[in-house]
Amino acid sequence: MPLNTYPYTLPPLPYAYNALEPYIDTETMRVHHDKHFQTYVDHLNKALEPYPKLQKLTLEKLLSRSSILPYDSYVAIMNNGGGVYNHGLFFQGLAPSSEDVHKPKGYFAAMINKTFGSFETFQKHFTEAALGVFGSGWACLAITPARRLKILQLTDQETALSINAKTILLFDVWEHAYYLKYKNARAEYIQALWKVAKFPEVKF
Ligand code: MN
Repeated sequence: MPLNTYPYTLPPLPYAYNALEPYIDTETMRVHHDKHFQTYVDHLNKALEPYPKLQKLTLEKLLSRSSILPYDSYVAIMNNGGGVYNHGLFFQGLAPSSEDVHKPKGYFAAMINKTFGSFETFQKHFTEAALGVFGSGWACLAITPARRLKILQLTDQETALSINAKTILLFDVWEHAYYLKYKNARAEYIQALWKVAKFPEVKF
């Protein structure tokens, strides 16, 4: 998915549209995945249409080597490419609340404790980062090139690739991610996201 190349296609949800109820509602999932995500995919394809050489590169390469992008398409490729990359990771990083994947395990759990003191303290800092994103953006837990865990605030469709980091956990705090159900209550949406956010097995 984030590693695929032109022409980009919408990756299907790895669960049903209603699988995250009541935390994330079915209508939001349909609009967010089928409309917003699809639009980023379509606009990225359009932006890459005139550039056969760029079409051969993976999305990760396009986004992490932004200096190779043509001046007049730079913004369109970074914004829509970032949208495709972030949303791919976001939807893949959610799972029904009944699954046993919502707490870090093993070595990853130990790294969280070592870096932040405890899982609860990490959650508090991450929640603050998500709440504190001004306007549209993302809260992101990433592994930096120095192999450290770091909480990032990403603006608009910026990705962790901008600092060559690997994304582990991503909260979409654009209003389109929560407005239908939570209106302006971003804090309630973030609390709900913790119930369905998936902690992958992480290798450092
Ligand atoms: Mn979104």
